[in-house]
Amino acid sequence: MITVMKFGGTSVGSPDALQRVANIIIASEGEKVVVVSAMSGITNFLVEATEHGTIEKKQEILDQFDKKHMDVATQLFNDEQMKEFMIDYTIRFERFKNLILDDNSSNDHFYKDNVTSQGERFSSLILSHLLRSLGTKSVALTSEDCGIAAEGRPLSGYAVLKKTEAMMTINVKPYIDAGIVPVITGFYGINEDGKPLTFGRGGSDYSAAIIANTLNADLLEIWTDVDGFMSADPRIIPEAIRIDEMNFGEAAELAYFGAKVLHPRTIEPVRMKHIPLKVRNSFKPEEPGTLIHHLRKTKDELLRSVAIKTDLSIIAISSAEIAFHPKMVARIIEKIAENDVIIYSISTSLSTVAFLVHNNDVKTTLMKLNSLNPKDIERIEVKSDVALVCAVGDNLLAKCGVSGDIFTAVKEANANVEMISEGASDVSLNFVVPMAKVTDVVKILHNKYVGGDIQ
Ligand code: ASP
Ligand code: MG
Repeated sequence: MITVMKFGGTSVGSPDALQRVANIIIASEGEKVVVVSAMSGITNFLVEATEHGTIEKKQEILDQFDKKHMDVATQLFNDEQMKEFMIDYTIRFERFKNLILDDNSSNDHFYKDNVTSQGERFSSLILSHLLRSLGTKSVALTSEDCGIAAEGRPLSGYAVLKKTEAMMTINVKPYIDAGIVPVITGFYGINEDGKPLTFGRGGSDYSAAIIANTLNADLLEIWTDVDGFMSADPRIIPEAIRIDEMNFGEAAELAYFGAKVLHPRTIEPVRMKHIPLKVRNSFKPEEPGTLIHHLRKTKDELLRSVAIKTDLSIIAISSAEIAFHPKMVARIIEKIAENDVIIYSISTSLSTVAFLVHNNDVKTTLMKLNSLNPKDIERIEVKSDVALVCAVGDNLLAKCGVSGDIFTAVKEANANVEMISEGASDVSLNFVVPMAKVTDVVKILHNKYVGGDIQ
């Protein structure tokens, strides 16, 4: 039985946290593969580091980075262990130093990917050496060592699963078979030219899912700093409960809309191979967390969870009989896509097409839309400060009268519904309400329909 165990930034963010994580790994049964994020704060630090040009600034960045990791290592290792650690550390640090100090490297298309992926190379090294110091055989492997193949534009890569599977079989499987625990860097893969390509912020979860998929693992565990998926954001609903079980579809929708527990792309690689996924809290290993898998006993409740995404805007474009001009709709979407803006929802009517985007993306989107032929566009209207409510429940849309129930609750909150869309595989109903009303809407929905009456 192979378990892929992924630990996030706060879980590896201090000597204490690392010690806790090492204990969790050692206590877990069967064959294990570990995937890690950078220590908390490090990736943000590296993102800033890509902006600084002067040699003094660069040296300062290197010193701070070095100090942060060395402080942790010296607290964890004795002299003998430190000597061994330094052999590997120096090799990785020299590479990082050359990257930062080489003036030409910043011209590379994938420079930011290269710099921001450095944190994982060091957290994985520390954790692997810590396991060794505690008597567990372990090896630290980078995504380059493993052969995690990636494609796509800078800072938004995705994995090439077939190729990665072949490489993992050659480069990683033998360690597992020999009883050695690989500790692998999350967050990035390697593109066709051998350059690091990151999977977007929070992408280590996705790395772990790729690794689980390509090793045909039996279980993926995402160890983080929360108890699992919750029935609502506990900051809005203090009575929110942990969800013990969910299916892949529900988890995917929740991860995409609002619930920041998982990188939204984590679900697909494990769903494809029917690998169950558990979200666990590394600070409370005695808690069971949330299990996400294919089948789940259905309960009577209508909703499993209510997530929200705030600070959004609706951009509505009016044009005569736009519904009869699909090419026009395509041109509008193409324009918006030029900015790589995320579109959370689209709706159309005879003469308008409306898009839901983040407030911050409105300005650049309008600039793009203004370059369309003015003859084709009658009017563009923007409604800012709206929020998307994502109501998730098993087989939700197949249940009779569900929309009636949900929208009655919205009416109770005196909220206007500005836009509606359905999620994939019948598990979610999404709608947009003004920001000022969203808390009331969530409270009412949660009280009425999640996990029975919890008032
Ligand atoms: N360290 C990366 C980030 O902060 C990836 C991750 O943590 O998943 O975005
Ligand atoms: Mg994360």
